[in-house]
Amino acid sequence: MRYTFSVVTNGSLLTPSVVERLLGLGLTHVQVTLDGPEEVHDRRRYFTGGRGSFNVILGNLQKVQDKVNVVLRINIDSKNLNEVEQLLRELSSRGITNVRLDPHLVHSNLYRHEYWENLIPSSKEAEVLFNFWEKAEKHGFQVPQDVFRLGICVAHVDEDIVVDPMGNIYPCWAFTGNPRYVKARLLANGEVEVLKPELGARSVLKVMKSCTDCPFLPMCMGGCRFLAVLTGKGYHGVDCRKETLASLTKLMGAQLGKGR
Ligand code: SF4
Repeated sequence: MRYTFSVVTNGSLLTPSVVERLLGLGLTHVQVTLDGPEEVHDRRRYFTGGRGSFNVILGNLQKVQDKVNVVLRINIDSKNLNEVEQLLRELSSRGITNVRLDPHLVHSNLYRHEYWENLIPSSKEAEVLFNFWEKAEKHGFQVPQDVFRLGICVAHVDEDIVVDPMGNIYPCWAFTGNPRYVKARLLANGEVEVLKPELGARSVLKVMKSCTDCPFLPMCMGGCRFLAVLTGKGYHGVDCRKETLASLTKLMGAQLGKGR
């Protein structure tokens, strides 16, 4: 079996030589995140000493976007929402369009609460995403067919592991560092010792037993385990996306109707 992996990185060291080395080891794609156009991103994401990281990241993306699949996640919250189009414009003007955009509405975090006041209410989620894709298309980005992504994630597949430097294995990266959610441990001999089967894929799949009649099931799979925990439903709670998915479908249907 061929070993493959992806990397989530801030992109500051994602040079062509690093990418080429990682490709030889099985790299399939990288995920880099931006928090807005230069001024907004650099206010939030800077190096020790205060220098902003925006131009370093964009310089690297320009050089590596044709070598490796890049998922460019764009964090969106109420404080940078109005500047998202400016970011798309900046990327496009620098020729960075050979990336897969991944708009991400920032959610609260188990450990850090400083973003809570910036959250976009879930009732607005569909509209924000729809507007995002409209603008992306306008600025020359490809709008993927699966704007509605399949809901299957790393938490649904036991062979897909997120492991920290100590060998602790988590259901997904959102839980990394939280001892309550260590589901297994990678041993020195390469074996995996299961510690909490209740956090494993089999038990996650049971979450959607109440969803079998839902038309959005393949796009949702009962929702995100991390958001279920954050919203107090617990690890095995349903994080229902029906309202958002239905609104998004309606908005897209209306848009397609206009184009005819
Ligand atoms: S949208 Fe709600 S009902 Fe439908 S699959 Fe997701 S959690 Fe289940």
